[in-house]
Amino acid sequence: MKLAVLPGDDIGPEIVDAALGVLQAVSGAFGLGLEYDVHEVGMASWRKIGTTLHPDVVEAARRADGVVLGPAGMTAYPPASDGGLNIPGTIRKQLDLFANLRPARSRPGVPKAHPGLDILIVRENTEGFYADRTMFLGYGEFMPTPDVAMSVRKVTAAASRRIAKVAFEMAAQRRGKVTSVGKRHVLQMTDGLFMREAEAEAALHPEVEYLEVDVDAMAADLYSRPERYDVLLTTNMFGDILSNQAVALSGGLGLAAALNVGAQHAAANAGHGSAPDIAGRGIANPTGIILSSAMLLRWLGQRHEREEYGAAALAIESAVDKCLGDAGSRTGDLGGRIDTAGFARAVCANLQARP
Ligand code: ATP
Repeated sequence: MKLAVLPGDDIGPEIVDAALGVLQAVSGAFGLGLEYDVHEVGMASWRKIGTTLHPDVVEAARRADGVVLGPAGMTAYPPASDGGLNIPGTIRKQLDLFANLRPARSRPGVPKAHPGLDILIVRENTEGFYADRTMFLGYGEFMPTPDVAMSVRKVTAAASRRIAKVAFEMAAQRRGKVTSVGKRHVLQMTDGLFMREAEAEAALHPEVEYLEVDVDAMAADLYSRPERYDVLLTTNMFGDILSNQAVALSGGLGLAAALNVGAQHAAANAGHGSAPDIAGRGIANPTGIILSSAMLLRWLGQRHEREEYGAAALAIESAVDKCLGDAGSRTGDLGGRIDTAGFARAVCANLQARP
C-alpha cells in the first residue's frame, strides 16, 4: 500500500522521519509491503515554488491509500493570497475528512500521567464554531458595528449523524460506551440538533451504552474520574479543547495522536502543533505521530481486510508503551534524555514480529 507523506514545518520533518523509520520496520516485520512518497510542503515548499501546498501534492494525497501529515507552522505563513495555504485544512476539505479521532491514554510509567484515563474523542471536523468552516451570508465571524463581534456556529443533521455513526462504531471496538458532550440547555438549537442525531444513532446500537454530559462537567470529570468514559462524541471546538486537556492529562502534548478520517481517505496527524520553539534540535517527542501512524495502519487493515495491518498497529502501540514505561527511553518533554531519532530506534527495537 502506498502512503503520501507530507512532513510539514518546524519539528514536522524530524518527527515524521522518526515515524517513517517505525513504519519501515513494521512493514518489514509484518510483511505489509508499505511504500511511500515524501512531498515537500509548508515554508520549505513556499520558498522554492511560492506555495505551501502545491495542487499536485493534494492529488498525490488523494491517490494514495493513506496520508501521513506533519504539523504545519501556519502562524509563520504568508497570507493565502501569497501562497500560504492551510495544509491540514485543505487536505481535510479536499479528502472530506469529516471525523477527527483523538485518543488519550495514560500509559504505565509515564510521568504526570493521570491514572484511569483511556478515552477516544470523536470530534466533528467540518462545522461548529470555526469561522473557516461555518459561513452565514459569506462570513463565519462578523462585526455589525466596530464594537460588536458575532460568531456563527453551524450544526447540521447530516454532519452530526455521520460523526455519531463513527463514534458508535469505534465504541463497539472498545469498551462499548459513547458519551456525547455539549451544552444543550444553553446552545439549545445547535447542541440540541447534534444530540438528537446522536440519540437516533444510539437507538441503532443497543449494545453500546449512551449518555450525555455537559462540556463543563466533562472538563472536571476528565480530571477527577476519567475511568467513567470510553468514547466522547462532540462538536468541533469542544473536541479541540477537550482533546488537548485529555492528552495533557495523559502526560503531555508530545503524546497527542490524531487520525482524520472520511469515507474514502484517512490522514495521520500529530495532535500537537509544529513546536517552533524546539525545532531543528532533534529533541521533539515523536510519539504522537508514531501512534497516529499506527491508527492509520489499523484503518487501512479494516478497510482492505488486511489483518496484518491491525497486528502491526498493535505492535507499534505495545512498543511505544514499553519505551514510555522506561525512563531510559523517554524524550526530554517526559523527563528523559533520548532524542527524536533515538526514541524511534527504541520503538523499532521493541517491535515484536508476527508470531
Ligand atoms: P498550534 O497552534 O499549531 O496548535 P501550539 O501553539 O498550540 O500549536 P505546539 O506547537 O503544539 O503549540 O506547542 C506547545 C508546546 O508544547 C511548546 O512548548 C512545544 O515545544 C511543546 N510540544 C509540542 N509538541 C511537542 C513534541 N512533539 N515534543 C515535545 N514538545 C512538544
